[in-house]
Amino acid sequence: MSILPISQWFSKSTDEPLIIAGPCSAESPEQVMQTARQLAALGRVDVYRAGVWKPRSRPGTFQGAGEPALEWLADAKAETGMMLAVEVATPQHVEAALRCGVDVFWVGARTSSNPFSVDELASAMAGVNIPVLVKNPIHPDLELWIGVIERFAKVGVTRLGGIHRGFSPFQKSMYRNVPKWEVSIDLRSIMPDLPIICDPSHISGKPELIPDVAQKALDLSMDGLMIESHVNPSKALSDAKQQVTPEVLGQMLSSLSYRKITPSTIESIDLLESMREKIDSIDLQLLDLLSQRMEVVRHIGEYKLQNNVAIMQLRRWEEMIKMRIEVGEKLGLSSQYVKDLLRLVHKESIRKQADIISPDDAAE
Ligand code: PEP
Ligand code: MN
Repeated sequence: MSILPISQWFSKSTDEPLIIAGPCSAESPEQVMQTARQLAALGRVDVYRAGVWKPRSRPGTFQGAGEPALEWLADAKAETGMMLAVEVATPQHVEAALRCGVDVFWVGARTSSNPFSVDELASAMAGVNIPVLVKNPIHPDLELWIGVIERFAKVGVTRLGGIHRGFSPFQKSMYRNVPKWEVSIDLRSIMPDLPIICDPSHISGKPELIPDVAQKALDLSMDGLMIESHVNPSKALSDAKQQVTPEVLGQMLSSLSYRKITPSTIESIDLLESMREKIDSIDLQLLDLLSQRMEVVRHIGEYKLQNNVAIMQLRRWEEMIKMRIEVGEKLGLSSQYVKDLLRLVHKESIRKQADIISPDDAAE
């Protein structure tokens, strides 16, 4: 498989991380042009992104402006000189985007979850050799992600990269999409030549978390960032909660510390360091899960208060321990370890519920 380093993708080769920015969706000629002008003025954005066809979870929401938006983007490119990136999900999207001078395609997380769609897209790109960035599938299935990349490589795409955009948490979490950095670390160890960029916007779901997620990605030697930016985020027709103005984006970009992208920095992330990164990521997910668990404990406490149920129910505790020890043993965890861990977790839950049921006693 022959994959070019991202520093050699475009005529201007660089060792800086690639910065892709722009609105979640192209909404109107004015919004596209104003956002592009302000982003170009930062002098740091290489590629202007905008969604033209939006894969939305629910019908009836904004599905993107479609083909007319490609003309608005072409105008923004002509005026600002920034290259263009759009999401493509069908061969028709590929043809239309190529006609309007789009420079980079990205494959969205919903599309990369579906090998049939990916095969159709790959056939449409055979012989074109345009840069393609593949977002990770919605769920943390590394094989599936690799499979998408291989499908594009097979038709001759050599400017090929991954976009780490996090994974659906399936329940409430501090992140919109849990980063699970270990998945990208594994991808890098399997495909060391594959450039990987990070999309902190879709991981974070809110502006406050974006700088830390972006810094983490750069510390992991990722090759670039894709960040959503809109002239008027609160009025955005999609992903209003996570977009930042070009001004805020500029401040974020200058607050980050960058490493030069060279093959040697990639090698310098050694095995021990990458295993520690995995442990850090898994521990953060453990804490997130414990916090979700505590939220349920709180609801149960409120229910017990309203329905006069005792906090501690011995039979339930015994059943819980028994079931978890059995599962733990199947997972290679000793029964003593599982017991000690659960005792600690349970003790804190009881304390929390005691706070809810008799706050005065707890305060003493
Ligand atoms: C997007 O980039 O706006 C988008 C829809 O992202 P994802 O496919 O990661 O959800
Ligand atoms: Mn978006």
